[in-house]
Amino acid sequence: MKGASMNKAPLSEAPEKKGSMSVNSAKENPRKESPREDAFLGIDVGSISTKGVVTNAHNDILCSEYIWTEGDPIGAVKRLLRSLEARFDAERYRIVATGATGSARKLVGSIVGATIVKNEITAHAVGTISKHPEVRTILEIGGQDSKIILIENGVAVDYAMNTLCAAGTGAFLSSQARRLGIEVEEIGDYALRSKHPTPIAARCTVFAESDLVHKIQMGHPREDIIAGVCQAVAANYLNNVGKGKKIAGPIVFQGGVSKNRGVVAAFERALDQPIIVDEIGHLMGALGMAILARRAEARSPFDFRIEDMEFHTREVSCGRCTNNCEIICVYRDNKLIDSWGNRCERGQLRHEAS
Ligand code: SF4
Repeated sequence: MKGASMNKAPLSEAPEKKGSMSVNSAKENPRKESPREDAFLGIDVGSISTKGVVTNAHNDILCSEYIWTEGDPIGAVKRLLRSLEARFDAERYRIVATGATGSARKLVGSIVGATIVKNEITAHAVGTISKHPEVRTILEIGGQDSKIILIENGVAVDYAMNTLCAAGTGAFLSSQARRLGIEVEEIGDYALRSKHPTPIAARCTVFAESDLVHKIQMGHPREDIIAGVCQAVAANYLNNVGKGKKIAGPIVFQGGVSKNRGVVAAFERALDQPIIVDEIGHLMGALGMAILARRAEARSPFDFRIEDMEFHTREVSCGRCTNNCEIICVYRDNKLIDSWGNRCERGQLRHEAS
């Protein structure tokens, strides 16, 4: 997926009726003969990947990009913008508002001069609802965390996140695939070949791993063990992130793990209903931010050139529990503007800039 370039042509989407605001009058635009259309940039910077989407006033995606963050959100955003700029039709469009989300949203919002900054829950809900207006539940499993968002009448009404237990994440799936000597991309095919998935203890990573080793030693076929691992990921998710939540359909499944057909099949079996996996599921947060930027009133032209800013980073250990998370703090002019690395809210530092 690294550096994947997607969707050069607009993806069709029903235009929204409300909230569109054009600043594209002939008076404001000196190019009277061919005034450029408004476009909106959404950026989603996570710890693993960084995504960007540019939309027009109808929420059609004009261009998009997905790259690895590689522990450097500032560098990732610069690479992201270079790639988007190369495919953006600046003759026809101009970006008039920008939105940022993701774990480094405040930092990135400050770099790009975002007109709106929102958390991932809101951004993913808005992006997903724009593509699947009937959605009631969004399941998301990423490389290191997972979340669930419940929607009623097109509004996110509840959510839960899990960043502490690795047994329900893509990292767990990858490590078990390695242990079984198969590529992570092959997990889905292996799992779907299984007729009798091997039950794997799903309670936590340590239990799951020791149970898996035990099942390998007992001679269970690899496809059955892989299918069992997929079921364990789905069961762990439902027992932790989804605990106590009313999971109603339509259900949309997102995040890197949604590309794994074995886990999709495990969710379908566990929830006894079809699961929708959108091919642009990985872009929903960025799309949501482009839509939110369009809906908001603030406007600030953006031309892909970002000012070089001086940032200083410092690592601190949370120390509030045995996880002892390393939290990266970013300062500008001696003010803390963003931080990430804390796996729960207790490690959230107070930012002096929003
Ligand atoms: S942020 Fe602090 S309290 Fe939360 S998991 Fe990490 S070390 Fe523990």
